[in-house]
Amino acid sequence: MIVVDEEHDGSYKQEDGFIYQARDLAVARAKIESCGVILASATPSLETLWNAQTGRYRWVRLSDRHGAAVMPKVELIDLRASPPEPGRWLSPRLVAAMTETLDRGEQSLLFLNRRGYAPLVLCKACGERMKAPDSDSWLVEHRYSGRLICHLTGFSMAKPDACPYCGAKESLISIGPGVERVEEEARARFPGARLAVFSSDTVADADAARTMIEAMAAGAFDIMVATQSAAKGHNFPGLTLVGVVDGDLGLRGGDLRAAERTFQLLMQVSGRAGRHERPGRALIQTWTPEHAVMQALAAGDRDGFLAVELAERQAVGLPPFGRLAAIILSGPDASVLETFAQAFAAAAPNGQGVRVYGPADAPLAFVRGQRRKRLLVQAERSVDLQAFLAAWRSRLKPPSSIRLTIDVDPYSFL
Ligand SMILES: [Zn+2]
Repeated sequence: MIVVDEEHDGSYKQEDGFIYQARDLAVARAKIESCGVILASATPSLETLWNAQTGRYRWVRLSDRHGAAVMPKVELIDLRASPPEPGRWLSPRLVAAMTETLDRGEQSLLFLNRRGYAPLVLCKACGERMKAPDSDSWLVEHRYSGRLICHLTGFSMAKPDACPYCGAKESLISIGPGVERVEEEARARFPGARLAVFSSDTVADADAARTMIEAMAAGAFDIMVATQSAAKGHNFPGLTLVGVVDGDLGLRGGDLRAAERTFQLLMQVSGRAGRHERPGRALIQTWTPEHAVMQALAAGDRDGFLAVELAERQAVGLPPFGRLAAIILSGPDASVLETFAQAFAAAAPNGQGVRVYGPADAPLAFVRGQRRKRLLVQAERSVDLQAFLAAWRSRLKPPSSIRLTIDVDPYSFL
């Protein structure tokens, strides 16, 4: 039997090199082997939910939490009404809840799915944003290592003393928070508390992760500041408060699964609180408390939220009701790339039930010295998308300097 735990998790989708979805391959493999496969999740993906609702998959429901634990009470903190002080990231309500939790000798977890100290460094003299020399993405400041790091390509440099563009001294300022900055604030607010940061920068490997999780479970820390890596499945008996620093983070950007993924992640993070006898509480800081994701989290209404998401996808023919494929063209020369992208788009076969969008600049239009263009193919379920793509590719071969990548059912829209 194959068990795919946390089947909704986006990390099952491999996007570099050979592109595949490991969950879907597990289902295919089980079919080949004639063995059973279990897709397990408290927050299933819409694809799996739809397969269960329509009877393609058998649905086994576990309606109660393990042992005596109940789902924590989820409350929204409207940052418009209760903002943090300038230069701070924790609102007064969250700080008050942390103080109460500390006084009771219980643990808090602050969740922010962003590594490092600040996601952007800019020069206040000339306004320049620090970027890698060969990519469009901003460099993330890491204070523990004193470096500016590109999370996309791994490029890194020591943080300069002066602005590399205008030469101004002490002009570089850090914009926005990462976990390191939230830890700095928690340390300043709760000087007596024992703190830990859990991210891939502080936890180098599986052994280090286990050590830190065991220490948290044993009560060695009062406050843990964590990225997504601490959200999954761990059991912390003394943890009764979860604070989500930026509930809206995952909703930005044009990703079709943004709402679904944010709901799954925040529900899972909230579920870390109160897994034993003591009741838990989750506070989500948000600028958009009226958003359907926030309302569903506060109401504990998973099924209602997923039903609305499914209906919206069905109305516009997006997965699981229709299929998508992204075609990414990349090359070092902008004009060669543009010419080929136009010619390739014009060569698209006419297919009933298929629409082609683009070419357009990819959201990350410049990575590792390569310019990038995207086309998006939307097809009805009945269309043989693979055959359509194969026919298209056979019509026009890219020049040797251009790389063509096809991602069927894309997850990130980069
Ligand atoms: Zn400058």
